[in-house]
Amino acid sequence: VSREVKPEDSTMQVGNLTVGGKTIHVIAGPCSVETREQIVGTAQAVKKAGATMLRGGAFKPRTSPYEFQGLKNDGLSLLAEARKETGLLVTTEVKDTATLAQVAETADILQIGARNMQNFSLLEAVGDTRKPVLLKRGMSATIKEMLMAAEYIVAKGNTRVILCERGIRTFETMTRNTLDLNAVPMLKSLSHLPVFVDPSHGIGVRKAVPAMMRAAIAVGADGIIVEVHPDPPRALSDGHQSLDFTEFEKAMDEVRAIAGAL
Ligand code: PEP
Ligand code: MN
Repeated sequence: VSREVKPEDSTMQVGNLTVGGKTIHVIAGPCSVETREQIVGTAQAVKKAGATMLRGGAFKPRTSPYEFQGLKNDGLSLLAEARKETGLLVTTEVKDTATLAQVAETADILQIGARNMQNFSLLEAVGDTRKPVLLKRGMSATIKEMLMAAEYIVAKGNTRVILCERGIRTFETMTRNTLDLNAVPMLKSLSHLPVFVDPSHGIGVRKAVPAMMRAAIAVGADGIIVEVHPDPPRALSDGHQSLDFTEFEKAMDEVRAIAGAL
């Protein structure tokens, strides 16, 4: 994944889209798929606001085993319906090797979560597929460790890997994580792979997410993955950091303005 091996930026085909290069992509949607109405409605709203891909967790790696674990296969079917309705490509997390085959059947992009960044068997298994991968940075992982995790996937022959900064643990407690925007220019100088930013998990505070979306674009990210929900206070996961449709639309206008000025 090193620039020393490949000096020019990698661009990659994801469905009908090109990721990396000049166009900025926004992947938006709820933390978890909850109902047909929720995911299809969100897909329509984020598409209208300019998102090119839909996110939504079906297999959720929750901190507590007593919290909502996702709709699993039913969630995948609903994501496929939302794609059919809107044409948006689907990004969804693959939590383990046992469910990889079924997730890969629906996903256009396989998301590897922060908690799995160094799950080497899972990295090798997604490396054996030929599906694009969004690799999220582990919450205590260094930039070097993240790049090595990407190597595990690419070494298996799957070259379509997107790196994603999603915040790291620091001493700060006012925010969920500390979004390490340093990682964007560092990753882009060290690696030829596209770099995305997740401002939702990065700061974890709904009102502050749009500012970090703007910052991500200003610092040179190739895209954003952001949580959007029709009714954040009622979300089954991560409502406290999810934008509603109006907030997302406004944030997208600001993102476009910054991207246009670069
Ligand atoms: C998510 O995207 O909802 C998620 C669980 O993210 P992370 O793995 O970065 O915590
Ligand atoms: Mn989430």
